Amino acid sequence: MADAIEPFDDFLPEALQRRSPAPLVDIGANLTHASFAHDLDAVLARARAANVTTLIVTGTDREHAEQAVALARRHPGPPLRLFATAGVHPHDASQWSGELERALRDLHRQPEVVAVGECGLDFNRNFSTPADQERAFEAQLGLAAESGKPLFVHERDAGGRMREMLRAWRDDIGDAVIHCFTADRATLYGYLDLDLHIGLTGWICDERRGHHLRELVGEIPLNRLMVETDCPYLLPRHLPAKLKGRRHEPALLPWIVQEIAHWRGIDEADLAHATTATAWAFFRLTGDGASPTASHTAQEEE
Ligand SMILES: [Zn+2]
Repeated sequence: MADAIEPFDDFLPEALQRRSPAPLVDIGANLTHASFAHDLDAVLARARAANVTTLIVTGTDREHAEQAVALARRHPGPPLRLFATAGVHPHDASQWSGELERALRDLHRQPEVVAVGECGLDFNRNFSTPADQERAFEAQLGLAAESGKPLFVHERDAGGRMREMLRAWRDDIGDAVIHCFTADRATLYGYLDLDLHIGLTGWICDERRGHHLRELVGEIPLNRLMVETDCPYLLPRHLPAKLKGRRHEPALLPWIVQEIAHWRGIDEADLAHATTATAWAFFRLTGDGASPTASHTAQEEE
């Protein structure tokens, strides 16, 4: 059943190849997902053409984090720079072990790894039990404190417990982003009170479940707001119908930024500039050692 194995159509019509007026950082790209294996070079070329110039490749378990690091090493840029995160997703929290923790600690020492995660709590699906999720998340909060690297957090239907756990660790960890924020106003303010960053995806373009975010986007300070595709998941639903069922990819990020800018009532270029500046500061991409290319360039200039 070849059809069932390859559900994604990777064709991207020229009319949908939208270029951002300013360079963008996609802070959540699951490029080690199997659906990208056969055409990753084309996906990266389209990202570059869309002016999505920095991609943070999400590492959701040990295997994918190691693949993300390898991918980042192959693309130190510019013009296209890839970085990685390394963590264990709440869905996979039942795999947590001392050996896994040691492997992640080693990964966090790599210069390509710019955040601890994806980690967190997902009480919507509970693929791992809540107790296992809390244990794995607690351990990764410890790894973030130890490494000093920012935290990349997943939360679904677990806002209350998430705030409790983050509050307990707040003084010990550095910056943290709630990626793919989808919750309500009270949860948003709870996170902003903890001085967290917020990642927005194409969820805001979903007329079934994302429209409440339209009123909230204006309430997130620009120095706390970042953007992401979370590809290949969460294809924006406001794109033309012919793309239905298609795989999402970083080149479509400008469509999401345009939508957020619209509901925020600001210029798309201004939003692009602001979210990129926020992402560079959050992931410390300008600092020495964060980017192999940056340190390489510095040496060449000496
Ligand atoms: Zn997630």
